[in-house]
Amino acid sequence: MFETLSDRLTSVFSSLRSKGRLSDADIDATCREIRIALLEADVALAVVKDFVARIKERARGAEVSQALNPAQQVVKIVNDELIEILGGETRRLRYAKTPPTVVMLAGLQGSGKTTLAGKLAKWLRDQGHAPLLVACDLQRPNAVQQLSVMAERAEVAVFAPEPGNGVGDPVEVARQSIEHARRQQHDVVIVDTAGRLGIDQELMRQAADIRDAISPDEVLFVVDAMIGQDAVSTAQAFMDGVGFDGVVLTKLDGDARGGAALSVRHVTGRPIMFASTGEKLADFDAFHPDRMAGRILDMGDILTLIEQAQKTFDEQEAAKMAEKLVSGDGFTLDDFLEQMMMVRKMGPIKNLLGMMPGMGQMRDQLNQVDDRDLDRIAAIIRSMTPGERAEPKLINGSRRARIAKGSGVTVTEVSGLVVRFFEAQKMMKRMSQGMGIPGLPGGRN
Ligand code: GDP
Repeated sequence: MFETLSDRLTSVFSSLRSKGRLSDADIDATCREIRIALLEADVALAVVKDFVARIKERARGAEVSQALNPAQQVVKIVNDELIEILGGETRRLRYAKTPPTVVMLAGLQGSGKTTLAGKLAKWLRDQGHAPLLVACDLQRPNAVQQLSVMAERAEVAVFAPEPGNGVGDPVEVARQSIEHARRQQHDVVIVDTAGRLGIDQELMRQAADIRDAISPDEVLFVVDAMIGQDAVSTAQAFMDGVGFDGVVLTKLDGDARGGAALSVRHVTGRPIMFASTGEKLADFDAFHPDRMAGRILDMGDILTLIEQAQKTFDEQEAAKMAEKLVSGDGFTLDDFLEQMMMVRKMGPIKNLLGMMPGMGQMRDQLNQVDDRDLDRIAAIIRSMTPGERAEPKLINGSRRARIAKGSGVTVTEVSGLVVRFFEAQKMMKRMSQGMGIPGLPGGRN
């Protein structure tokens, strides 16, 4: 997501870096470039105009002319303004004083609403809540079934009318679901409403009726980021028809431009609260404007990386591994495999690396990172005997051939892995002896 914009802005700033002082002409030229970058990213024109005007005003002011490093100061201004346009502070879900908290989802059909219901339910469950998913989309055949599947995957309860028992009124289903949640002690209710293919007055009224019947604490408007500029007009129509408190952007994984993300908040005045980045339930998180701005400007998103690590590993697991790393001794191929699998659990390697600062410029190489390479390494190690894993020096030519055959790779790949393992082991020893890592601060070169 945001790749085009990110690339453009990074190149605008790199051409600024060579300049000691910035003249008004430099600032104008930079603003022009930023304007083009935003328009190319499909950001709504009104938003672009506002954004660029603010950058220009601040860049011409004292903060840049008096700065030691004017180029850096401009990056800072753009970062500040990006955060602002993306919503400023992270807007968290508001829970009701007396449970259940009622969250209603609205959006076009195909926007990813039902998937989102499952993601949000899992996200809440992971934080100790007991959500109830409610199927109020009685329009689309299979919608109820699809939500039930989501609930099962998210391991949460679902409230849906039994097919054929005469419950065909979504408003009534919504009302009953709140009673049900109270009885069953669910503290959050997520109501999935019927999607619409286009702006449809009848369905819009239905959503409004459901809203009036259950007085949701949060109405979330779900929008597919890939529809670009249309996101803005759709948002406007839902704002007028139903009204909403926050926005959920879906399919950000497929949207290289990100214009919707940058426009929706500005146009509707409602914050983006969550973002979906894939088809799996875990591809979902709260939306943090500051972190997103950091990613756009290729400054990395270390906070999300750390959170992901904390979510994935339990403390003991991490401590055990750290101890092995520090001692340096006794580091075997089994540990190597275990470490690799731990990283693997955090998600696709490409995504993880993408969160590191400066990685944006290495996008082509990143795209070649293939998680299947890790699977091949795992297969090689698993084809070794326990003795070989503990003492890889035992692995001679004939053993390499046997391992290669067992894991379906070439002998060269097996040799490559063993060599890399020895390097890793050497590195651990150096670290444990306090010599640091070559090339890094404190390390010997
Ligand atoms: P609904 O009609 O609004 O309920 O939409 P669905 O939840 O059925 O989603 C429509 C399609 O989009 C499905 O094929 C989903 O798997 C897919 N989808 C949903 N969210 C995402 C996402 O964040 N990224 C990607 N790539 N696909 C998604």
